[in-house]
Amino acid sequence: MSGASVKVAVRVRPFNSRETSKESKCIIQMQGNSTSIINPKNPKEAPKSFSFDYSYWSHTSPEDPCFASQNRVYNDIGKEMLLHAFEGYNVCIFAYGQTGAGKSYTMMGKQEESQAGIIPQLCEELFEKINDNCNEEMSYSVEVSYMEIYCERVRDLLNPKNKGNLRVREHPLLGPYVEDLSKLAVTSYTDIADLMDAGNKARTVAATNMNETSSRSHAVFTIVFTQKKLDNETNLSTEKVSKISLVDLAGSERADSTGAKGTRLKEGANINKSLTTLGKVISALAEVSKKKKKTDFIPYRDSVLTWLLRENLGGNSRTAMVAALSPADINYDETLSTLRYADRAK
Ligand code: ADP
Repeated sequence: MSGASVKVAVRVRPFNSRETSKESKCIIQMQGNSTSIINPKNPKEAPKSFSFDYSYWSHTSPEDPCFASQNRVYNDIGKEMLLHAFEGYNVCIFAYGQTGAGKSYTMMGKQEESQAGIIPQLCEELFEKINDNCNEEMSYSVEVSYMEIYCERVRDLLNPKNKGNLRVREHPLLGPYVEDLSKLAVTSYTDIADLMDAGNKARTVAATNMNETSSRSHAVFTIVFTQKKLDNETNLSTEKVSKISLVDLAGSERADSTGAKGTRLKEGANINKSLTTLGKVISALAEVSKKKKKTDFIPYRDSVLTWLLRENLGGNSRTAMVAALSPADINYDETLSTLRYADRAK
């Protein structure tokens, strides 16, 4: 199948303590696949409604039948993407939304509280499947890398000695890649979990040293997964290589709403540019797929993020996006803008 096919989910998180202390009202409603938002400045205005592949409601109690647990989100989205990777597609899952809306919770989750997110659950199932299917005929290899893109510069999270600003280059056959980025072979889920932990720590330390916060960078966890099939009669083997990119995007809040100046303003402009470009790329791909057109101009080159994700977004790939939402009236503008962004990706 050619063209892109993007699965879009929205997920509303529970109220946080700040919202509770301000007695915030919930302005999100969900029914089936549809999500509506009420304008708290004008409650008489009809709610704005959007429909998505999945609308995840989680600000009530876990007993609520509509409550979206980490497992449910993984089963709907992560599982499907993993199956596509086994079929040989490149896949990409990313989380979009304002800082604090639940992107890291959705992607990484909290393992210590048995609330593992999409990334650890997907890695765990990847190795379960490998162990189930591995035999004389089939063999598998897995390599991971973990990088952060901050202000259009790439930092290697698995080699923190590398201070950042790795070069982005283009391979004539394999497409865009990051020069000198560590790619580590792993043979079990524990290997991956250790690397993820180390990478997450490196991310926090680097952000603190540079006086940033990790919410202003994109974190891209990549798994390159190779399936080798040996034909016993001819003794020839064929290989299928899939790249799985799992992306926790920078916070989507607009710089102008926080009164940013100087470096912060530049940061904001860079973040906005890459998120806007990602939005444009995804909606252009969605258009191509709807019109069943083969080619159209897709502005991958306009940001490092989209350039590096090129092979995971267009062509032989499958993409899913989870847009994370705050339920609270005080975040109305940001939440509406997240819903619109998610709507354009369909
Ligand atoms: P972001 O990555 O978008 O900045 P986080 O994922 O760090 O936001 O979420 C902010 C806080 O809200 C965290 O304490 C997180 O555990 C909590 N949280 C987010 N989403 C959910 C959810 N669906 N259910 C329960 N807690 C959540």
